[in-house]
Amino acid sequence: MNDGIFDPRLAVAVADVPARFVKQLIDRDVWHEKGHACPDCPQPKEALELVVHDYTEHNRTAATIRKLKSDRREAGRRANHKKWDHPGEFEDCGKCND
Ligand SMILES: [Zn+2]
Ligand SMILES: [Zn+2]
Repeated sequence: MNDGIFDPRLAVAVADVPARFVKQLIDRDVWHEKGHACPDCPQPKEALELVVHDYTEHNRTAATIRKLKSDRREAGRRANHKKWDHPGEFEDCGKCND
C-alpha cells in the first residue's frame, strides 16, 4: 500500500469501512476509482483499486489505515445527518460538527 492506492476490500476488512460507505466516499471524491479525473492523484493500476485523494504525508500503511478510518467516520456522520433528517447541509449542521 503506497501512493495512497489501496484495495477497497482491505479498507472494508482492516479499517472496518462498511461497503455502503465506499461508494459514498467515491462520489464525494474522498477516494477515487481507476479512471478518475482528479489531476492531483495517481491512477490506480488495477481496476478494483482506489486511491485516497490528497494523499501527501500519509505514506505508511498505519497512517493510511488511520486516514481510511477517519474518512469512514465522516461518511458515518453524513449518513446519520440524512437518517435523522437534520435541517440544512451537513457542513453547517451544529449536531454533526462540534
Ligand atoms: Zn484527488
Ligand atoms: Zn446533522
